[in-house]
Amino acid sequence: MTAQQTDPWLLTPGPLTTDARVREAMLRDWGSWDSDFRAMTAEMRARLLDVAHADPAEWASVPMQGSGSYCVEAMLGSFLPPDGKALVLANGAYGQRAAKTLAVMGRAHVVIDKGDYLPPRGEEVSAALAADPAITHVVAIHCETSSGILNPLEEIAEATAAAGRKLLIDSMSAFGALPLDARSLPFEAMVSSANKCIEGVPGFGFVIARKDALEAAAGNAHSLSLDVHDQWAYMEKTGQWRFTPPTHSVAAFLKALELHAAEGGQPGRLARYSRNRDVLVEGMRAAGFETLLDDRWLSPIIVTFFTPADPAFDFARFYEGMKARGFIIYPGKLTVVPSFRMGCIGALNESVMRAAVAAATETLTEMGVRSAAPPASALEERRRHNAA
Ligand SMILES: *Cc1c(COP(=O)(O)O)cnc(C)c1O
Repeated sequence: MTAQQTDPWLLTPGPLTTDARVREAMLRDWGSWDSDFRAMTAEMRARLLDVAHADPAEWASVPMQGSGSYCVEAMLGSFLPPDGKALVLANGAYGQRAAKTLAVMGRAHVVIDKGDYLPPRGEEVSAALAADPAITHVVAIHCETSSGILNPLEEIAEATAAAGRKLLIDSMSAFGALPLDARSLPFEAMVSSANKCIEGVPGFGFVIARKDALEAAAGNAHSLSLDVHDQWAYMEKTGQWRFTPPTHSVAAFLKALELHAAEGGQPGRLARYSRNRDVLVEGMRAAGFETLLDDRWLSPIIVTFFTPADPAFDFARFYEGMKARGFIIYPGKLTVVPSFRMGCIGALNESVMRAAVAAATETLTEMGVRSAAPPASALEERRRHNAA
């Protein structure tokens, strides 16, 4: 983290605030076919396997151009065969997007939708798989970034494996900060992107998959450019990406991976993000704000707060007030109750989070908001769901 920060802090779930050294790594050009860049691609692929504790004899990482959603689509289209059927575990916008992606591809799927507040549980997965033998794959969201809920990946993976089905994971906003260990977690493939918890810049994502699953994925994809098998096979053969690679983003990502390792890898990053979350939640609650989620489902990635009921509160003004004080926050993405989000990820530490809370308090005062408490109906809705 740099001492000098002139740009606003991005309290957003990616793109996020990056370390100056990550941005500086982009200050030259690389030829995509040149051996220097091929070595960078190879090093990045190896380091990604390390982060997942994935044995290179059994696993491979495959970078894919595009934003995270392109890579989710690539994973779904490549690993779910055209005659397969997916069970999508949804509890927010990203679960719903996975289902929509399958609908657009015309792949058979069913959805368990838990709304905005609650995680899909292992026993629900077991019941759904027992009831429908046609289901071949389960699609799970590791951290549902729309609410900030941390889903119980281990029990979902166990239920899926116990039923003899395959697990595909969207670990976009979790990988690198939350544990995902290929030695103990049974899964087929997972996907994440450069601009989330590894703290790189946008431009590409990556799939980490079992090699046998990659072999078996030949011919499955609905799309040429989003074919993970084809990208993998070409990269193994030539060391190159199939089409123009985001060279500068890859250079930045390598630096970001280096900083990630220097911080103590995933456990080190989790410790900093958890501290960010604790300072943020404690400060915002002291200011009168309420979180959407119960403490046990709050992730160290992003926190959703209910919008205050006070008629003097206006989100657009609150956003501008925060921005004027150097903080970019994130609008809510809930289906029912008005909310906003503040991220804990990126090159931020607890002193930044403390300053963000102070900025929120000042902005409320400036707006003439007396209480940050949400409407009683929001709290009632939260109580009803958590009791269910
Ligand atoms: C960020 C994110 C994505 C991908 O979003 P893009 O805007 O396409 O990068 C997918 N799933 C989850 C859970 C995410 O947090």
